[in-house]
Amino acid sequence: MITPAILVDNISKTYAYNEENMEVLREVSLTVEKGQFVSILGPSGCGKSTLLKMIPGLVKPDSGQIFLEGKIIKGPVTKVGYMPQKDLLAPWKTVMDNIALPLLIAGYSRKEAYQKVKDLLPAFELEGFENHYPHQLSGGMRQRAALMRTIFISSEVLLLDEPFAALDALTRENMQEWLLGILEKFGPSILFITHSIDEAIFLSDKVYVFSKRPGRIVLEQEINLPRPRNRSIVTSDIFINYKKI
Ligand code: ADP
Ligand code: MG
Repeated sequence: MITPAILVDNISKTYAYNEENMEVLREVSLTVEKGQFVSILGPSGCGKSTLLKMIPGLVKPDSGQIFLEGKIIKGPVTKVGYMPQKDLLAPWKTVMDNIALPLLIAGYSRKEAYQKVKDLLPAFELEGFENHYPHQLSGGMRQRAALMRTIFISSEVLLLDEPFAALDALTRENMQEWLLGILEKFGPSILFITHSIDEAIFLSDKVYVFSKRPGRIVLEQEINLPRPRNRSIVTSDIFINYKKI
């Protein structure tokens, strides 16, 4: 059997807060196979972000284990592209300097890093904006910049926490289609968090639906819609049938 990109095995987590315990995740197991796009769909506060933070080792589970490409996670790991729910572009840095940061950290010279960013700017629809500051960009552009930076951390495993949640409906649909195009270029394994049923079905190979807190998996659904996908599938019978589940 091929080793999954991400294997979450029976994770539970309780936060201690103001001397009270809050159970946020209960016995969660899931798998992201290599190259798969997997979404987690669930209500606010059910522990989705907590689970995502466990994969790069930023939060420890109380029990259970997580494996990344077959290796157990014991502490923080750097080879996953984790994009937090609030994108953290530095407001005082240009788009170029924000995106180049992981490359500089990885040891590239400034010249090499800038060239790598320049080469990818058109694919991220940011050409001509490299000297702008984050506040001068639209919401969609900021998210594309944050995603580009994330891909420079790792283009193999991406963890995206509601990346499109703050965008208006039309921008969001455009971003979903753009994302599918970009993924064809990099072929990463993705764990993606969303509130939106349509978004989860449109993008994913598999969707896990979480209960309200404490988050448990109440449904695991493969999405066998053909790729490449475009917007017309949202009105297809098969898409509508998935929504009824
Ligand atoms: P979701 O992403 O599904 O909205 P989160 O994982 O962000 O949920 O949070 C789940 C619950 O855990 C929330 O009620 C939140 O307030 C709480 N929580 C998150 N992080 C911490 C923390 N570091 N300490 C205490 N409570 C936390
Ligand atoms: Mg969250």
